[in-house]
Amino acid sequence: MELTSPSVIRALMSEAGITFRKEFGQNFLTSRDVVARIADSAAESEDTVILEIGPGIGTLTQELCERYRKVVAIEIDRGLIPLLGKTLAPYDNVTVIEGDVMKVDLRALIEREAEGHPVAVCANLPYYITTPILMRLLEARLPLTSITVMIQSEVADRLAAAAGSAEYGAITAVLGYYGKVSRLFTVSAGCFLPPPKVSSAVVRIDLYKEPPAVPRSEALLFRVIHAAFAQRRKTLVNALSGVAPLDKATLLSLITSQGHSPTVRGECLSTRDFIALADAIDEKTKRPQ
Ligand code: SAM
Repeated sequence: MELTSPSVIRALMSEAGITFRKEFGQNFLTSRDVVARIADSAAESEDTVILEIGPGIGTLTQELCERYRKVVAIEIDRGLIPLLGKTLAPYDNVTVIEGDVMKVDLRALIEREAEGHPVAVCANLPYYITTPILMRLLEARLPLTSITVMIQSEVADRLAAAAGSAEYGAITAVLGYYGKVSRLFTVSAGCFLPPPKVSSAVVRIDLYKEPPAVPRSEALLFRVIHAAFAQRRKTLVNALSGVAPLDKATLLSLITSQGHSPTVRGECLSTRDFIALADAIDEKTKRPQ
């Protein structure tokens, strides 16, 4: 069954008595080439267990089953479950779970399904919930080697932006703490049914086994990053007033002692710079002289 064919997709959905659910971000892939490229990028080792979010009608799932040890796919739309039973019937290395990826206990699921094999996430993500899904995967510190996802092209630019560029933001700096982001390729709206309003891109996050530097306080690091970008036009020293009980002169001396200009803005600091600054703030707050 050629699942990238629009007529096959329509026929399968009509047989199942279902329609595209916009509220679930359903834009199904119709390009064989794109599906194959995403599946190829998902992991290095064939021994990997792939966690797929939103299998839809199973197009990417089939390609992942062909390449890797096992696929565990979580789908929120109950109407798609019987259809997936049909399209994935030829594969004995797939488990489909009906559920919301924001609610499923992913750690328990991985422990149960992966049995010690490497695990990677691969998905054509529903765009309405891209950032919350990524943050949930990262903050939970799941034992993942990588996350390969199709997302809106604009969001991909932001995730992979270099410090100092206009696209660089809090999410870029936070992601830089968990892994190395690479923008792999762009995908046009014509490769989906129905076509989304925006173009898309595939990014891969290779997760660090150990963070590049360990902050004294993760909570303070994230507070500093978010405050630095909350009002982009403010200088860093002004943006940070309020994240710690330090006066402006003290904050300024911490910023300049790290080698930054007194008027530096948040977008010029790399993740490592933020870690160093948050550590300096933490130390000053706890051991004021
Ligand atoms: N993988 C298919 C493909 O590439 O053709 C479908 C991708 S479509 C962009 C996103 C899929 O995610 C849909 O099947 C949708 O129902 C599912 N989905 C949306 N929100 C979800 C959630 N919170 N948890 C699990 N699946 C979700």
